[in-house]
Formats: sequence, structure tokens, C-alpha cells
Amino acid sequence: MTETAVQYRITPSDPAAHLFTVACTVTDPDPAGQRFSLPVWIPGSYLVRDFARHVLCASASSAGAAVAIRKTDKSTWACDPCDGPLTVTMEVYAYDLSVRGCHLDTTHGYFNGTGVFLRVEGRDAQPCRVVIEAPPGAAGDFDNWQVATSLRTAGAVYGGFGAYEADDYDDLIDHPVEIGVFTRVNFSCLGVPHEMVLTGQHRADLDRLARDLTTICEYHMRFFGDPPPIDRYVFLVMVVGEGGYGGLEHRYSSSLMCSRDDLPTAATGTMNDAYARFLGLVSHEYFHLWNVKRIRPEVLKRSRLDAEAPTTLLWVFEGITSYYDDLALVRSGLIDTRRYLRLLGKTATRVYKSRGRHVQSLSQSSFDAWIKLYKADENAPNAIVSYYTKGALAALALDLLIRERTGAAKSLDDVMRALWRRHGVTDSGLGEAGFEALAEEVTGLELKDFFDAAVRGTDDLPLAEALKQVGVSHTLTDGRKGQAQGKGKGQSKGQGKGNNSGQADAAPRPSLDVVVKARNGAAVLGNVLRGGAAERAGLAPGDELVAIDSLRVTHANLSARLAACAVGETVTVEAFRRDELMEFAVELQAPVKDTCKLTVDDEADAAADAARAAWLAPSYGAGGEPD
Ligand code: ZN
Repeated sequence: MTETAVQYRITPSDPAAHLFTVACTVTDPDPAGQRFSLPVWIPGSYLVRDFARHVLCASASSAGAAVAIRKTDKSTWACDPCDGPLTVTMEVYAYDLSVRGCHLDTTHGYFNGTGVFLRVEGRDAQPCRVVIEAPPGAAGDFDNWQVATSLRTAGAVYGGFGAYEADDYDDLIDHPVEIGVFTRVNFSCLGVPHEMVLTGQHRADLDRLARDLTTICEYHMRFFGDPPPIDRYVFLVMVVGEGGYGGLEHRYSSSLMCSRDDLPTAATGTMNDAYARFLGLVSHEYFHLWNVKRIRPEVLKRSRLDAEAPTTLLWVFEGITSYYDDLALVRSGLIDTRRYLRLLGKTATRVYKSRGRHVQSLSQSSFDAWIKLYKADENAPNAIVSYYTKGALAALALDLLIRERTGAAKSLDDVMRALWRRHGVTDSGLGEAGFEALAEEVTGLELKDFFDAAVRGTDDLPLAEALKQVGVSHTLTDGRKGQAQGKGKGQSKGQGKGNNSGQADAAPRPSLDVVVKARNGAAVLGNVLRGGAAERAGLAPGDELVAIDSLRVTHANLSARLAACAVGETVTVEAFRRDELMEFAVELQAPVKDTCKLTVDDEADAAADAARAAWLAPSYGAGGEPD
């Protein structure tokens, strides 16, 4: 078998129509008739996406003659037997501007292999080559286009169109590719070349980016210790307008989407919330290079991406990564303790705002990600808990528990490094019970009760007690004090704003216990929270509020209308359900205290202060200590 037994060629053949033409050639096709398939999901994003739905047409040929090709299921094609090299050519529609999909227009192209490269059944363990071609447009149109990817070149010059290579099919589809005109930021981390590629308009301070990214990447490298498992790394960043946010991890790269305002500019001071958020995203995806891309759950490692691959461990891979993403920022000095505790408090608030935390455990949230977290509907706050946010809190609670019970001799850091040596370096999959067993082995502690409660239970984690031992105070409020209540997913709580000027001990503001969104200025119920005032009165998601006690309400004045009432008072709410006007008697309730604030406790004793300093100090693995 030669190393070019499988070759691909991808051409942005019609940017204006968002079409890639992709050819796959097999030198020695299966004599019984070669089969090909496309994945139905992309690693790191646990939802069946059926990438084959974007394939407009497929044809096959051998030695210049057409070969019959037919579909055998939604994502699989079969060709008639033929002797010589067999080429299948597809046209793929690419207009999904997300880190998981493919996108092509006259300004740039981006693709994930899962959407464009066919798996050649029976040949997917072999090395393959891919030629990335420039758009064929009129001379001048695409002259300045370049290529950015972590794929190894096999003839193409750095940044150029041409031939690249991969070890096998899984490797091939793990390197997203950006083509177009973009900004490159190059930097070196412990001698390993890194780059960040920014697509889209921006005025980012590139020196600042290079400096801060180096700090984060080197910190994570030293955290795990040993020689870093990479010889290159690429961040592909799509810069968009307000609200853009997301990331997807790969072994040698990650794709990020961010809002233009998240990037640092010459005007950015020491730090601000938006830039801290961007650095947190960078830190998150980079930590995944170890945790989930190399330390892998057995179930995901085995998957051929042709069906869901449920595992109870997503909280380990996403929750623990979410814990360490911001923690690395404070440990490496990019943010201060105050800002870190504020970020951690926001994570806790998101958990406290989901009533679903008493319905679904972390383990269940992980396993059902495919049908619940990724398919969140209007009942999501009542039905599910995120393995990202609650997973991060479980990691925090576990870390603090280990520190306390071992007298600070051990921490979650040691567990992660053991996980790396045991499962990452050796590439042996992590079984469903593997994390808990390893945590007990590394720390010498009996942790079954903790995991039963935190991972398989639905009671709140004992965060206040855990944080007390590191001198951090945990308070829950109804979110007032002059600030809006936490906003989530573009929706703002109806009670969020108003004329309250921030007296902490003013009378509690009456609440409907709903999440309200604006539709043409009207207040529409996005979520009706379980057991709350609105639900008890019969209001439902989608209802459009019209009046309270005969006075018109809008999205803008709802808070003020409610603030004029009293807790315990019964008001008449008129609302449209679809196009039918209905009336409800609602007994207003006190707002739920679900906003978490974490602060350094000035009264903490010296032992707690020392424990906090140790927790937030840099932590290095063997061979990772700075010189
Ligand atoms: Zn993640």
C-alpha cells in the first residue's frame, strides 16, 4: 500500500453559490464495490448533524468512464465494482458560519473535514493526502487568498494552496481549514510554533494578543509537564459582530468565534470583562488539547461518527475544562483574584438559575447531551443542568475537598496529571468508571460519597462550606443592588431592570418567576419556571403579556409595573396565547435568590488565606517548572 492510496482534492469552485467541489480518489477500490460515508456528527459537538444533507450531488468515475454510485443510507454511498483508481466527486453546499460546519462566500472559505471528506470504508486507517485548491475565479479576485490549517504540508508552502497530508481519516478530519485573506499572529510557546489567524474585520492589538496567548499556552504546557504533545498549534478565529461566541477543540488547533469587541485594542486597559472572556475561551480550547483530544473517553474513541456515542463523562471533559479555563488566567497572572471570583460567581449563578439541577444529574446531563443540552427548548431551565457549568462547580468542589482532606498534599491538579500520564500519553481510552477510580488512587481518599452526590445526585453542591476553607464568602441574592439580573442566551429576566436604585434591603421586588424576551417590543414568556407564580396561575411559554391590572405592559415597562405591586398580591394578567386573549390571576412571589457573589472574606483566618493562595498559585507538572 502506498501512502497515497487515498487522495482528496477540495476546490472552492463557486464561492458566490457557496459550493465546494470535493473529489476523493482510491487507488485500489474494494473489488466488491467501494463504499464511502460522511460522519453524522463532529467530535466535540454532541449532536447528530447529518453533514450529508449538504451534499448536492455525487458521481463516480474510473479511467475516464462513469461508475454507478448509489446511496445505501442517509450518509453512505456504494459504487459498482471497478478495477482501476476510483474517483467520487461531490458538490457540497457550505453556508454554515459556525465552528462546526463549512462556510464559503466571496470573502473567505472555512471547512471541517467532517463536512467534506468521505470516509473510504476499509481504507480509513491509511495515510491520505489532500490538495487544497484556490478558487478558480477571474484573475485578481482571489490573488491574496491564503491557507491556514494545522494539517502537515506535503508540498504546499506554508500558508499556500497545494498538497497536505494526514495519518489517517480521523487525523484528516481533525484539522479545520481557513482560506481567504486574514491576519496571522505568530508566537512561540516553549519552543513550539503557534499562530492565531483572525478572519473578519478587527482592530486587535496583535502584540498584546501574542503576549497573552503565550502566557496561557505556556501555563497549560507547564501544568501538565512532560514535553508538550504538539509540534505546532493553530487558533482559527472568526471575528463577527455582537454576540459571536463559540469554540471547537482539535488536537493541533481550535476554531473560535468571537465578537469584535472581545478582542483587545489599543484602548483596552489592563483587562476588561470582554477580553477576559475571550482569553477564557482560548484557555478552554487549549486545555482540551490534553483533556478530551488526547485523554479520551473510551466511548468517543471507539465511535465511527455514524451514530450518537453517549458517555456519562462529558462533565469530566467539559466541566473540568471549564473549571481550569478561567483558573489558568488567575494562576498565570492575567486576571486578579477579584475578577476570577466574579467569573466563578457567574458560573455558579448559571447553575442556581436552572431548576433542572434538581431534576437531572451531571451524569445524566452528560449521557443525554445529544437529545437535551444540544436540543434545549423552552422547558430547558426546568429540565436540564449543564455539564459545563455544574461540571465546573463539581470540579471546584472536588479540588477543594481533596486539598482539605489531604492537608494540601494533593489536589485535582495531581489527578489531571495522572490522567494525562495514564490515558493521554498512552492513548488508552478512559472507561466510564475510570475517572473516579483514578481520583481515589491518586489522592488515597474514599470519594464515592462525593461522586454519588455531585455526579449522580441532584442536591446542590456544598459550595459555601467548601469555599470557606479558602477564605471565600459565598452569598446568594435576588440579583438587585443596582445591577440587572443575570442574562442568559440573549434573554433578559423580566425583573432584570427597573427603577430600583439599589438599596440592598429594600422590599423584595415582586416576581412572576419567568424569563421574558422581547418580540416587537412586547413581553413574551420565554421560559416559565417550575413551581413559580406564572406557572401556578396557568401562564405558559410563548404567552404575550398585554396588561397587568388593566394597565398595558411592554418588554420595556414590565419591571416597573411589577415593582409597583407587592409580594403576595394577586394581580390580573392579560395575555395572548397564540391569538386568543386570556386572563390569569397571578399571586406575585418574592424573587428567588439565585445570583451568586463570591468575594475574598476579609475575616478569614491565616490558614484560609494560605489555602486560597495555594489554590490560586501556578501549579506545574514534572518537567514543567519554569527555569
Ligand atoms: Zn469545551
